[in-house]
Amino acid sequence: MSGPVTTGDKPALEEHPEPEGPTVEISRGREARVGDLRVRRALPSRPRRTVGAWCFADHMGPAQIADDAGVGIGPHPHIGLQTVTWLFEGEILHRDSLGSEQPIRPGQLNLMTAGNGVSHAEEGVAGFRGELHGMQLWVAQPNETRHGPAAFEHHAELPSTHLPGVTTTVLVGTLAGATSPARHDTDLVGAQLDLDGGPAVIPVQSHHEHALVVAEGSVEVDGQVVEPGNLAYLGMARDELALSADGPSRALLLGGVPFGEPVLMWWNFVARTREEISEAQRAWATGDADRFGRVASHLDRFEVGPPPWAS
Ligand code: MN
Repeated sequence: MSGPVTTGDKPALEEHPEPEGPTVEISRGREARVGDLRVRRALPSRPRRTVGAWCFADHMGPAQIADDAGVGIGPHPHIGLQTVTWLFEGEILHRDSLGSEQPIRPGQLNLMTAGNGVSHAEEGVAGFRGELHGMQLWVAQPNETRHGPAAFEHHAELPSTHLPGVTTTVLVGTLAGATSPARHDTDLVGAQLDLDGGPAVIPVQSHHEHALVVAEGSVEVDGQVVEPGNLAYLGMARDELALSADGPSRALLLGGVPFGEPVLMWWNFVARTREEISEAQRAWATGDADRFGRVASHLDRFEVGPPPWAS
């Protein structure tokens, strides 16, 4: 669910640590809430706030949905980012201010580009009961596109590659010879890795930095074990990624060319300056439909007060 960052979050300015050669730097995801859902926030983390242009990763669930009120994130705005909603289990309904109304199911890519402004809601599906489990990711847009128009894509079919010990499904970019049809504004890769258990070697691009977020099971990389909810930053200059798993395990591989622009994140906004964020907050608070449009959702809008520097 591309839910709002809690307003308690401090504004996060990308600190631009130098990308490293091959490394394994594990940071623990921290518990957060998005609407009624508990999530583990793997990114931003300290000291890594971006991996390529990936700037946000929430691991949501697994949660049991036992009633119609089980999930539901009302209309809220975004600027300067793409939302990638990726489910392992369950179903939710995406609605946005472009008029899109799209069920999201496991293995299907829901990709919304905010540009200068968009708003959306994610609703529970009436009658759905069972497990909800997935990842909510954000991709920072570069200066070339972040003031541009909003857009929405849904990809029901994504390319998979079977390698010894692992099946890769490419959400964005190219991995192991397979290329996703999804839009990307920077040199980026995102893929689901389904490990059989045992060793697996995945070819990767050495000019990318990479990170691994484990969703199920546990994955070992360079002798270190990565558990669900944690992020393992893997550095750059790898031609391949040698992994092993004790049993069937699932992870997301995130990577890309290090994002060369300082990113300021607050609430649901990704920008460069405080003034840009203050302007976006004012536009949402005053119901500026030219900027954020309207979402046809029965859920209540999310509201937020001014950012801390404005008070
Ligand atoms: Mn959202």
